[in-house]
Amino acid sequence: MNLSYWERKSWFSNIDFTIVGSGIVGLNCVLELRRKHPKARILVLEKGKLPQGASTKNAGFACFGSISEILSDLKTHSEQEVLQLVQDRFNGIQSLRTLLGDNVIEYQNNGGHELFLNQDVELYERCFSELKFVNELLQPVFKNDAFKVVPDRFNFKGINKNYISQVFEGQIDTGKMMRSLVQLAQQDGITILNSTQAQSFEDTGTEVTVKTDELQFVTKKLLIATNGFAAQLLSEDVKPARAQVLITKPIKNLHIKGTFHLEEGYYYFRNIDNRILLGGGRNLDFKTEETAEFGNTVLVENKLKELLETVILPEQPFEIDYSWSGIMGVGQLKKPIVKQVSDNVVCGVRLGGMGIAIGSTIGKNLAGLVG
Ligand SMILES: Cc1cc2nc3c(=O)[nH]c(=O)nc-3n(C[C@H](O)[C@H](O)[C@H](O)COP(=O)(O)OP(=O)(O)OC[C@H]3O[C@@H](n4cnc5c(N)ncnc54)[C@H](O)[C@@H]3O)c2cc1C
Repeated sequence: MNLSYWERKSWFSNIDFTIVGSGIVGLNCVLELRRKHPKARILVLEKGKLPQGASTKNAGFACFGSISEILSDLKTHSEQEVLQLVQDRFNGIQSLRTLLGDNVIEYQNNGGHELFLNQDVELYERCFSELKFVNELLQPVFKNDAFKVVPDRFNFKGINKNYISQVFEGQIDTGKMMRSLVQLAQQDGITILNSTQAQSFEDTGTEVTVKTDELQFVTKKLLIATNGFAAQLLSEDVKPARAQVLITKPIKNLHIKGTFHLEEGYYYFRNIDNRILLGGGRNLDFKTEETAEFGNTVLVENKLKELLETVILPEQPFEIDYSWSGIMGVGQLKKPIVKQVSDNVVCGVRLGGMGIAIGSTIGKNLAGLVG
């Protein structure tokens, strides 16, 4: 792009902070930067016309981890680490709710319910036997029992007659959350350049030269919040993980309410606007789903439809409206990577499947790395 004098002067000179990525992390990061630096020139580069990663594609669970997930984490993390993970998720959701308001993001606390397929009886028994222990472990966070055994009240089929429910889990309207974060950033005088992809950068020690698909400019600090696309700019342990989702058409008298987890979190569904939103199935073909390309596969779609027909809505006629996918960033460890990359470059990536819960905190922590 051949920039005019005016374009150079008004958009691309004296930039203090450039953030790559306008997902939940990037947007929370810029809001924090603005709070700390009221006069700074802040620029966001976003490759999509809208944010195009996970933050506008997800299921909107405001969750802290189902019981089987917590037990699984305890195999690879200490009790203290797991407690800290859950505390971070709790704090993150509180901070998002305080920032945007429950009405704006349509926050509802309907509980999060883990369902166990009939064939997963062993898993249910393990979770049931550890219930008291996990509730005690998490007391410092929730000040009450987080997990309870609840009899099936939504007439699901082929599952254990009881769920194990996380009573504090909630759900939000993801689109409303992201729209209001974008609006707040714009109100704060932050420029978001959509359809602009950062291709490379060079830190000279005093400033950073950033090259995009169309132009080149200089910024004092560069903050990378590209999550599942991190490998394009960074050499960190972050792999893309595609997650596929479908949504039904509105269903008359839909009685299902809440967020639901199946098969140790590999499947998840919720109600939204009299519809069921259902996602998951990465475990059917991890290799194919380790991609930063959007798309849906017949294998996963068929499995999601089968779950709707046989488990979730066995007695109710429904139609699939449409499907989509999103790209997450995952790695060997669950912990996000928030670190200095070079003198003037930092990153906050690898949010895994918990970005709603921890995205606001990670965004703030990322901003904290540049003072
Ligand atoms: C289907 C699905 C369901 C999920 N469900 C839940 C859930 O219920 N609850 C929950 O807590 N979490 C959920 N998650 C995870 C959550 O959405 C993510 O953890 C979170 O959105 C990550 O936010 P982020 O800002 O780090 O990344 P992203 O939202 O992916 O943002 C990164 C941004 O960077 C942009 N970008 C990338 N590379 C470049 C570049 N070179 N130049 C410019 N821009 C670039 C991308 O376009 C993108 O907009 C789900 C994810 C998916 C995909």
